[in-house]
Amino acid sequence: MNLAYFYRQLYQWWEHNKRELPWRETEDGYRIWLSEIILQQTRVQQGMEYYHRFIERWPTVADLAKAGEQEVLREWQGLGYYSRARNLHKAARQIVESAPRQGTKAEGQSLFPRTFEEIRALPGVGDYTAGAIASFAYNMPYPAIDGNVYRVVARLKDCAEPFDSSSGKKLFHRYIDEMLDRTNPRLFNSAIMEFGALYCTPSLTDSETGACVCERCVIKEVCKGYAHHTAGLLPVRKPRPTLRDRYLNYRIYLSGEKGELHTLIHQRKEKDIWQHLWEFVLEESEQGVLPVKGQTRFVDINHVLSHQRLHTRFSVLYVEQLPSIEGYRAVPLASLDEYGMSRLTLKALDQLRATAGLRPL
Ligand code: SF4
Repeated sequence: MNLAYFYRQLYQWWEHNKRELPWRETEDGYRIWLSEIILQQTRVQQGMEYYHRFIERWPTVADLAKAGEQEVLREWQGLGYYSRARNLHKAARQIVESAPRQGTKAEGQSLFPRTFEEIRALPGVGDYTAGAIASFAYNMPYPAIDGNVYRVVARLKDCAEPFDSSSGKKLFHRYIDEMLDRTNPRLFNSAIMEFGALYCTPSLTDSETGACVCERCVIKEVCKGYAHHTAGLLPVRKPRPTLRDRYLNYRIYLSGEKGELHTLIHQRKEKDIWQHLWEFVLEESEQGVLPVKGQTRFVDINHVLSHQRLHTRFSVLYVEQLPSIEGYRAVPLASLDEYGMSRLTLKALDQLRATAGLRPL
């Protein structure tokens, strides 16, 4: 591939098409790290709101380290994949604790690590995120290979090897290593990721005209997938694992006078989904969601995670007295906002609140 030509074309496209995003206006490692963690599994538009909220509340990594884990989880509410928030908080504490030993940074200055190895060692940071932070914040020559980059490279190279297999990963890393612009890693990583996100998309279709975008692509001259008419079939993934079905029956017990209702919740401790989040009384069953005797209202929500398909039923039960169940605590219904809960639980609450007769739930 003629790399000089490729860079020139790609960078011109970037200049004309890039989105103005707040984390692109900074070289502060903390802010870039925060944006990268938020954007894992989250769309840019939704992530932006959370990014601003976090920065406003915790402007530095030292501020984030001082926060309590529950505070961080609450601020994260609605984004899902809560292990990201827990790792964020854990990493912030780790950074602050190790800073004095490094003997170079005082509080108030940026404590965020400055080498790839230190960044990669943070909880919740994999190769992609470490490469993105090292290149965006410090312009270091590390690739940042996200799904968009895999797609563009698979097409440029006409590579049908599954990019998520171990041999495929090695091959793609070699391709990207050969392609990386070592004099401008920040620009290269930003441009190729944006090109994949906005132009060389999975459908390859212009959203306005419905035409294939390849004909007008600025790098089609160096694209083997275009030349061989295979671009639309790429990239290739390895076959997906079969999903495990789980049936989660939640009981929302309510007791007390209207306006002073109490309910039962507990914190999930097991190494499982939603670890450390709070939830209502749970009974997991093997065969399906269960009917509950005496229930007045329920909502069913199905949700697919990477390896599991969750079938949930949230049933509301008004009772004289809350049952005593080991591990559960009685809390005022009005205080639920103080407890970090999964996005699915919040969705169920929203749906129940919208149902006549269930206020003030
Ligand atoms: S020619 Fe098509 S497949 Fe190739 S890089 Fe351009 S948009 Fe992507």
